[in-house]
Amino acid sequence: MPSNATHDPTLRSWVESANDPASDFPIQNLPLAAFLVEHDGHAHGHLATVIGDRIVDISTLAMAGFFGDPEAEELPSVLHTPYWNAFAARPALWSPLRSKLQDFLRADGLAGQQVRRLRQKVVLPLAGARLTAPVAVLNYTDFYASKHHAANVGSMFRPDHPLLPNYAHVPIGYHGRASSIMLSGQGIRRPHGQQSPPEGEPGAGPRFGPSTMLDYELEVGMIVGPGNRLGEPVPIGLAGAHILGFCIVNDWSARDMQKWEYQPLGPFLAKNFATSMSPFIVTREAMEPFRVPGPSRQAADPAPLPYLRDAEPWGLDITVEASLSSVAMRERGAAPVRLSRGSFRDMYWTFTQMLTHHTSNGCNLQPGDLLASGTVSGPTDDSRGCLLELTWSGNGPDKKPLPRRPVELPTGETRSFLQDGDEVIMRGWCERDGFRRIGLGECRGTVEAAVAAVAPNAG
Ligand code: MN
Repeated sequence: MPSNATHDPTLRSWVESANDPASDFPIQNLPLAAFLVEHDGHAHGHLATVIGDRIVDISTLAMAGFFGDPEAEELPSVLHTPYWNAFAARPALWSPLRSKLQDFLRADGLAGQQVRRLRQKVVLPLAGARLTAPVAVLNYTDFYASKHHAANVGSMFRPDHPLLPNYAHVPIGYHGRASSIMLSGQGIRRPHGQQSPPEGEPGAGPRFGPSTMLDYELEVGMIVGPGNRLGEPVPIGLAGAHILGFCIVNDWSARDMQKWEYQPLGPFLAKNFATSMSPFIVTREAMEPFRVPGPSRQAADPAPLPYLRDAEPWGLDITVEASLSSVAMRERGAAPVRLSRGSFRDMYWTFTQMLTHHTSNGCNLQPGDLLASGTVSGPTDDSRGCLLELTWSGNGPDKKPLPRRPVELPTGETRSFLQDGDEVIMRGWCERDGFRRIGLGECRGTVEAAVAAVAPNAG
């Protein structure tokens, strides 16, 4: 799907804040969101979109008949639920919803008395809205699609074999845990776990306790649309049509636990205690103008196997950044400090390759599934998307990692890994000449102290 009239940069909304060039949410974006609406003394989950600094109650619009008769037509009938999963399953409805919403929100739209009444009823301040998860995520898979990230982490964990020979051929991933996916803003409890014996203490054993190497991972998430039946792989040429949209993901990671547990089966408890996602899904259609040739490969890299060769450009020009705010910084009113900025266009594998590989054995994806990219790290030091890489200062002559080079905060504090009270703020946005800038919004999470020690033989 190339860019179309819905991407016209001259389109303006009667919601004035949406016309601010700095807004993440102009009328060209219209991400999928959800929030709680109070009536009859009960909180109900409603579907919504966001424009400027407003949230638009799509479920109420649907009940008012704006999208047609809910008894007779498919589009309004899938807009009554608190999640977008039913809509995700029906790609034929995606473009009609976008153009109907633009009709409702455009500055030059017709506004009879009924439309003016609807505008007052369904367009509400975003600040203070009780946002909920836009999709019920049944399955979550995390990939490892940045070669820069894979090479850096590999150098720390396996100095002799930083990049394993399969990396250039297989989009590496692992099955994450959907039950601990959290919405941006929910607190992240520091996990307990088994940790690797300390370096340079031969004979020392592992310990169990709160992780002391808690980290974030700056990732882009993709939400699956219709999905596929068990046993029916999605060919690469059709993979794009399975993408509902994109969000920001923070794949919180306990490095001390990861290092000890990851061999031979891969990540487990170091990763599944929490994964945060931003509350807005930027649709594939909104993202169209920001697709670029991809993936980013060197001449020495082998061509992918035929089933992973994509004729379509599925690189994405999304700029992503991670910032940190400590308790002391907030007490002093200091702004969050940026830790890294990178681009999704530097990834080695694209989302269409990840999706096709995931289904290539017949594995079935379901509407609303989350596929995350893996840490978005670029070629430069300031584009490293986690503290594990950012504070790494290389390996010494013995091939062991040198002492970490902590990040300095404006308060004089330093961080090699996250402390209790630290808030991690991730943002993503897209810019291109001739098009309106759009944003993915923010993914936030604050680290909370570990629960009191887990007592042996308690109870
Ligand atoms: Mn990850």
